[in-house]
Amino acid sequence: EQFSLKLDTPAYKGTLSINTGLFINGQWLKSVDPEKLDVVNPATGKIITSVEGGCSKDIDIAVDVAEKAYKTTWGLKVPGSTRGQMLLNLAKLIEKNTDELAALEALNCGKPFGQAQQEIAGCIKEFKYYAGWADKIHGKTIETTENKMAYTRHEPYGVVAAIIPWNGPLTMLSWKVAPALAAGNTIIVKPSELTPLSALKFASLVNEAGIPPGVINIVNGTGPAVGEAMAYHPRIRKLAFTGSTLTGRRIQEASAKSNLKVVTLELGGKSPNIIFDDANLEQAIKWASLGILLLAEIFLQCKYGLSMLRRLSDFWFAAAAHYLQQNTGDPFSGKALHGPQMSSVQFDRIMGYINSGKTDGAHVVSGGERDGNEGYFIKPTIFTEVKPSMKIAQEEIFGPVGVVMKFKTEEEVIEMANNTTYGLACGIFTENVSRAIRVAHALEAGTAWINNYHTVETMVPFGGYKQSGIGREQGEYALENYTQVKAVHINI
Ligand code: NAD
Repeated sequence: EQFSLKLDTPAYKGTLSINTGLFINGQWLKSVDPEKLDVVNPATGKIITSVEGGCSKDIDIAVDVAEKAYKTTWGLKVPGSTRGQMLLNLAKLIEKNTDELAALEALNCGKPFGQAQQEIAGCIKEFKYYAGWADKIHGKTIETTENKMAYTRHEPYGVVAAIIPWNGPLTMLSWKVAPALAAGNTIIVKPSELTPLSALKFASLVNEAGIPPGVINIVNGTGPAVGEAMAYHPRIRKLAFTGSTLTGRRIQEASAKSNLKVVTLELGGKSPNIIFDDANLEQAIKWASLGILLLAEIFLQCKYGLSMLRRLSDFWFAAAAHYLQQNTGDPFSGKALHGPQMSSVQFDRIMGYINSGKTDGAHVVSGGERDGNEGYFIKPTIFTEVKPSMKIAQEEIFGPVGVVMKFKTEEEVIEMANNTTYGLACGIFTENVSRAIRVAHALEAGTAWINNYHTVETMVPFGGYKQSGIGREQGEYALENYTQVKAVHINI
């Protein structure tokens, strides 16, 4: 089935057009046991269209074709340079379709169109970067004993899978598909049932890029119907997951109970942003405000904005929040920096946290309520007078809510920041280089940002400590996720 929608907005004018079926073996197929998945526009709360959701039998079919492709038209049968060229073709096609892909993200996820365009630019970079790696994945030669030597090969797993969340549909897809293919694997992708549209458009580019049938398969569906079938599948050798810690646990359990498939997990976070009294306050506030907004929509929850000398008074935060509120609005307005929350469930969750902060006695400097009557908009909210024991200080909110706590010493703030089960990232604002490095090393997190917040680069690894995840995506490190090492011993 075809979905088509003409848009005439300040940010985007054009027609969106996608196939809503399952993309398996380079073809659009119907599910063996279809489930209708309604897709909602979070800016209005209204249904845009519905797409076909699959079932476990569709995953069996996808695994069969992906396995066949791996053995015949992909994998190590194809030179790395050829695989790289196809990834480059795909990057060019994504580039050509940037605006339509960005419009689908804006429509389906509520991302402001300009931000969505930047995310698509990130996806293009991803495919280009890993295209370059495809013919540079080498092993080592190891001298052993007299008349003997060994060498290593970095071989693909075969059929791998990816399960994607709603907050970065194409970004998270490209973080997984690009390195998986560069290393020679074939892949089955399940987008979030809430945000399936952009992945379907992406699927329509795969054949044109010259990528053989069965190498990339996109199967929409719910977690229970399709995600679990992937997690338990005995012939999927590796699974990359981004989403909540709860689902991450289930996926690891499924791996343990099925075939011990390798699992990498990118999970939740509660990432402190520590502002010391000697920080460049203008910069610190700029990044902290952006963190509250962007991270709400991307990966992290900005947990602390901290000050030793109370220089970060309520005034600063009120000004920041006011700025954010001015820029919250329709993703297609061409002006908004911040759109609606993704779903009614997410909206209710975030409002629940805002209410719990109020009940626990935290002080609302700004926001603290819904924005307008239509869709899932929430006013960017900042709490001060927060105690570490409060729920808003402990749990991941995953919404535009900043929680400000104060501290006196470096030792104290390190302890506060590490006192969480998460360890995704942290920010440190100070002009004292030694302190910045000392604190960055002392914090239990996969990423430390010094005098910036939420910088993510294709060539730099990203992933969590503790219950924020296992394994690294991005950069050379991601290739380790998609290859296994074989040692070959030779008697000379
Ligand atoms: P979620 O765990 O509910 O869903 C993520 C994906 O898992 C969806 O595709 C869903 O259909 C699927 N799924 C659900 N149950 C499943 C099951 N039993 N088996 C297999 N698959 C299943 O998470 P979400 O609400 O979509 O995403 C929000 C969460 O993702 C937040 O906690 C956020 O912190 C996290 N996240 C982390 C990162 C990171 O880089 N660490 C990035 C983005 C999002």
